[in-house]
Amino acid sequence: MSRFFITTPIYYVNDVPHLGHAYTMVSADSFARWHRQISDDVFFLTGTDEHGLKIAQAAAENGMSPKEWTDSLAPRFQDAWRKLNISYDDFIRTTEPRHYETVQSFLKSVYENGYIYKDIYRGLYCVSCEAYYQEAELDNGNCPIHGRPVVVMEEENYFFRLSAFTDRLLEWYERHPEAVGPSSKRNEALGFIRQGLQDISITRTSIDWGVPVPWDSQHVFYVWYDALINYLTAIDYGRDLEKFELWWPSVHHIIGKDIIRFHCVWWPAMCMAAGIDPPANIFVHGWLLVGGEKMAKSAGNKVDPLELANEFGLDAVRYYLLRDTNFGSDGDFTYEALTSRYNSDLANNLGNLLQRVTTVVVSKLGGQAPKPTADSPLAVFAGEVMESARTAWSQFAPQDALEAIWSLIHEANARLEVVAPWKLELGSELENVLGDALECLRLVCIGLYPVMPDTSSEIWRRIGMDGSPEDGNALAALSWGQYQSSKVIEKGIPLFPRRK
Ligand SMILES: [Zn+2]
Repeated sequence: MSRFFITTPIYYVNDVPHLGHAYTMVSADSFARWHRQISDDVFFLTGTDEHGLKIAQAAAENGMSPKEWTDSLAPRFQDAWRKLNISYDDFIRTTEPRHYETVQSFLKSVYENGYIYKDIYRGLYCVSCEAYYQEAELDNGNCPIHGRPVVVMEEENYFFRLSAFTDRLLEWYERHPEAVGPSSKRNEALGFIRQGLQDISITRTSIDWGVPVPWDSQHVFYVWYDALINYLTAIDYGRDLEKFELWWPSVHHIIGKDIIRFHCVWWPAMCMAAGIDPPANIFVHGWLLVGGEKMAKSAGNKVDPLELANEFGLDAVRYYLLRDTNFGSDGDFTYEALTSRYNSDLANNLGNLLQRVTTVVVSKLGGQAPKPTADSPLAVFAGEVMESARTAWSQFAPQDALEAIWSLIHEANARLEVVAPWKLELGSELENVLGDALECLRLVCIGLYPVMPDTSSEIWRRIGMDGSPEDGNALAALSWGQYQSSKVIEKGIPLFPRRK
């Protein structure tokens, strides 16, 4: 059995779940669902990042202890993901005892391997990033991510000997060109490394809201170091070797482009320093912008995905997120584009196909489904389309998968228009065109399930199929002609009534 381990970043618990997070989550969810459909053993991990200065500050402002504060916030993420139908297998909170244990045992290995030492650090620090910057990385003296001034910080720290990994990382990327995708983002990571890496401070004495350093109780680990290790906590690094080796290193980290340096430079080096293999694959997606700008608390342009789901329906929002933006490039959310996708793709195409077919089967054939024909004019095309969709899913290209599926929906609708079964007398011509259209719907349900699980399951039910489109192995179910006749068809209300 193949295994598929997929992770999202863990989100700052101070933040409010917004459409940018939802974009990452729905993407990762679609990959997890597809891999479950093809019978892989899937482990889908997400969670919340709960340490660091900003969180301790926010807790104090709200008159709570950091623990009380994070306990009050983490459920917002869990609720949001439940409402967005995100099928994660584990939700990690970095304040859990299992995480403390893993962070300490991982960094103890790094320490014992000689890659951690103590020194005075003086540097330019962005409080929002909780990261130090080099002068050259700043944007007119401001943080390149937040556009706000950095501060000069000086403290006694433990340092990670990142400089020892410049050559090893370059060599590793040379041997594993697939490790970071898309290639433009791989080049960005290589660019960072080729500049030459400097040692980085990994502990703090100025705050105590973090994981304590096991060999020096004055220090806590810097939040970024602790956060990255969540990926190992969840697979029982240091606790269950068998489980760890089952899932590591063949992981797929899905990340946004703002955290390339942490995931594609620091993290693989940390793994090497601890004596384990770096992650096998990191996929970097673009930002979903709003009006051309990154969604951020300070920008006041956050879009609430749950409000959109209430208004358009959850699956319409999930569809829009994956259909409108090439995974890996930046996208730009607009209300108009969502409405237009809804009306053209969902109401006019998918919804219309289902409504026409079920209406005619019910009115002319008493709801008894005819079977598809082996030599249907749609058979070869459907085979090619489903093969494209399968390939796209395996290559983290949901947009291409959806485009392929919609081309089949188009063809099926076009054939209905040409043959016009609603005008035909009873007989084989009527039965054939309807049986073929039902078979197209069956295939569409399988290919679309990762993005629109509720919609696919409902269409599946209306065309008389048992179980759900996720049952069985999708790879075996994608060939033409498996729809069985004499199923009972239900003509329900339109799934996507047109919107103004
Ligand atoms: Zn910053």
